[in-house]
Amino acid sequence: MLADGSGEPLRRGDVVVVDGLIGIWGAEVPAGAEIFDCSGLVVAPGFIDAHSHSDLQVLEGRREKLLQGVTSEVVGNCGFSAYPQGAHAGELRAFANGIFCGGQGWGWDSAEGYFAALRGAKALASVYSLVGHGSLRIAVAGNRMDELPEAQMAAMEAMLGDALAQGATGFSTGLMYAPGSGAPRGELERLCGVVAKQGKIYCTHMRDYGYHLLEAIDEQIALADVTGCRLQISHLQAVGRPNRDLNARALEQIEEAHVRGVDVAFDCYPYIAGSTVMTQLLPQWALEGGIDALLGRLANAVERGRISTEMIAGMANGWDELLISAVGSEANASTVGRTLEELGALRGQEPADVVFDLLTEERGQVNVLEFNQSEENLRRNLNHPLAIIISDGFYVKGRPHPRLHGTFPELLGNLCRDRGWMTVETAVRKITGFPAERFGIKDRGYLREGYVADITVFDPRTIRSRATYEDPAQAPEGVRWVFKGGRSLLAADLRAG
Ligand SMILES: [Zn+2]
Repeated sequence: MLADGSGEPLRRGDVVVVDGLIGIWGAEVPAGAEIFDCSGLVVAPGFIDAHSHSDLQVLEGRREKLLQGVTSEVVGNCGFSAYPQGAHAGELRAFANGIFCGGQGWGWDSAEGYFAALRGAKALASVYSLVGHGSLRIAVAGNRMDELPEAQMAAMEAMLGDALAQGATGFSTGLMYAPGSGAPRGELERLCGVVAKQGKIYCTHMRDYGYHLLEAIDEQIALADVTGCRLQISHLQAVGRPNRDLNARALEQIEEAHVRGVDVAFDCYPYIAGSTVMTQLLPQWALEGGIDALLGRLANAVERGRISTEMIAGMANGWDELLISAVGSEANASTVGRTLEELGALRGQEPADVVFDLLTEERGQVNVLEFNQSEENLRRNLNHPLAIIISDGFYVKGRPHPRLHGTFPELLGNLCRDRGWMTVETAVRKITGFPAERFGIKDRGYLREGYVADITVFDPRTIRSRATYEDPAQAPEGVRWVFKGGRSLLAADLRAG
C-alpha cells in the first residue's frame, strides 16, 4: 500500500527506482532489477524530521533516526546552530552543549563549512540546517543580553544573509534561552526581513508557552506580518495545568492569521512531556555572562532569593511534573529519573534549592523532562491541518526523552493504529510531503516520478516504539526497509534479527 506523502488514501501500487530516483509509474520493471516484496506493508516517502537537534550527531553516523525510518533532518532549531562560530567559540559551545550533547571540539565559521563537514562525514540523512539566532548573536557580541549597537546588528544581518545564500534552509530563534531571549522585537524584525528577502523559513521557539502563550504567538505573527517571512511555530503546546484552556485559543489565533494570508504553520512532538536544559526554569537574566556569572549569582543570598521568587512565579508546572533526565557527574547519577518534588523530600530541601544546588554542582549541565500538557490538547494539536509532526529529540548524557528513539513509530503504531487518532496517510503526510513543502525541500517528501528515492517501508500491524521514559534507548519495531537515494540502508540489520 502506498502512502505517497500527499495525504490521499492508501492505494495499491509498485514503486520503481532507477538511478536513485523514483521512476515512471506503471513502467515495466527493468530486467535484472532487485525486487522487494512489500505485500502487507506500507511504502512511504522517507520520513523528514523537521525539528531535530542532532546538529553534531548527524556527523557521527548515529542510527537512532534511521531505525525509525527518518531519511532527512532539519537541524539548527530553537536558536541553536553549530555555526557561525565567530570570535566567541567557547561561549557558543557553552550556550549550545546542553542541547547538542557536544564537547569542546566543534564549531564552524560558516554554513558552508558545516555543509562541507557533512559531506565529508557522509551523513546517513539529508541534513537541512537553520541558522540559530542565539549562535548568531554570540558570534557577533558574545553572551550578552542587551540591545546591540548598530554595527553588530548590521553584522548579524550580513552573516545571516550569507548563511542563507550558502544554502541554509532558514532561521530559528529560541526566545526562552539566553542570550537570544534578550533580543528586542526590532532586532527580530530586521533578521526576519533578511529571511523574507531570500524566501526562506523562520522557525521560532517563542518567548513563552505557559501563562503568556497567546501574547507570544501574537508577537510571532506580527513579525511575519511586518516582514512577510514564512513562519513556523516550534513545538506548539500549552504548558501547565493552569494554561490548558489557552490551547484552543492558540489554535484559533494561528488559524485566523492563516486565513488572512500569513504563511504560518506549526510543529508538535507526539508526547505530553517535553525536555530541555534545567536552566530553562530560571529567569534568563540570571544566565547573562554565562555559567560562571550564574553560579556567582546563586552563591549570593540576595540574588538567589530574587531568582527563586521569579522562577516560582513564572513556573506553570508543578515540582512533581519536572524530572531529572541527565547530569554530568557520577555523584549525582542517582537523581536521574526522580522528580524535583521527590528530590526535595529526599534531601530535606525546598525543590527550588535542589534546582540551584544541582546547577551549581553540575556547573549548569542538567537536563529535565517536563510533563507539560494534556492528552486532549496533544491530540487536537497533532491532528490540526497546519501541524507537522516532529521529534525535537536530542541526545543527553543520561536518559534522553523517548522521542529521540521512538517518535515516528510511536505516531504510526500507538497513536494511529492502537488509539485511532488519525489515519496512516494523514500521519505520513505530516512527516513527509508537508514538511518538505514548508522547508522548501523540492526533491523529496513524495512518492512521485523524478523525486529522490528516499523510501521507508513499514509494517502497519507491528510498527511500534519501545522507548519509554524509564528506558528510552530502545530501537523501535516494524520499520522494514529504509532506502536512501534508492540504496537499502536497513536490510542487513533486519536479517540479523
Ligand atoms: Zn525548542
